[in-house]
Amino acid sequence: MSAIETYEVYAIRYATLARKAADNFIGGDPHEDGSPLDYFVWLARSPTRLFVIDTGFEAGVAERRGRKMLLSPELGLQRLGVDAAKVRDVIVTHLHYDHIGNFALFPQATFHLQDREMQYATGRHMAQPIFSHAYEVDEVVAMVRRVYAGRVKFHDGDAQLAPGLSLHHIGGHTLGLQSVRVHTRIGWIVLASDATHLYANMDEARPFPIVHDVGAMVEGFRRLRELADHPRYVVPGHDPLVMQRYGAAGPGLEGVAVRLDAEPML
Ligand SMILES: [Zn+2]
Repeated sequence: MSAIETYEVYAIRYATLARKAADNFIGGDPHEDGSPLDYFVWLARSPTRLFVIDTGFEAGVAERRGRKMLLSPELGLQRLGVDAAKVRDVIVTHLHYDHIGNFALFPQATFHLQDREMQYATGRHMAQPIFSHAYEVDEVVAMVRRVYAGRVKFHDGDAQLAPGLSLHHIGGHTLGLQSVRVHTRIGWIVLASDATHLYANMDEARPFPIVHDVGAMVEGFRRLRELADHPRYVVPGHDPLVMQRYGAAGPGLEGVAVRLDAEPML
């Protein structure tokens, strides 16, 4: 195995949604009335490797579901110097609609997915709207087609994709949710994706209500902290605070992309 590499890591904010706190915590929150969600795709880049983590949703899906699209993930990646058509590796944290659209953008990519996520998205639980409503059947079918085309690399649990970047099955939110651990100049950081939507879900052990297994979700909060060099290096999947705690990824990228391999401003 070659030497460990150091990655630059970015979050690109591509959409947003105004929402009540009751929608973001089991049992709600009597002290707040607003708790918006942001939507991100992430990028991890070393001198030799590049990984896109999740692919966002498409404009049509955003409109149908009432989400406010801020820019296309394609354009967001372009602004960081990445041509989606040339990307070789896409990590899919899970198959929910806001994490797997825009597939056509990545004609050369291999998609990294947990065995259990495909089982979940095509199995018995999808007969229940409470579990299926966050999936888009056409997008799940598109992923099945990629399986048959030899474009999906399945992982069962933890897996190192490169020295300095690994996948970790967390479950909870969905059966096959995975988070990504990345070696950076500040140490190991963790892109939680929806293992914790907001900082508060993890910090206060208050689970998000879209959940397959509450026990696994709460256990996942502990696992995320363990995987990162410090709990503050865990990056939640949908928290607007991410755009405040980290600096812009470059000139003109304020509000668009932040650099995550930097000390968060708490
Ligand atoms: Zn999500």
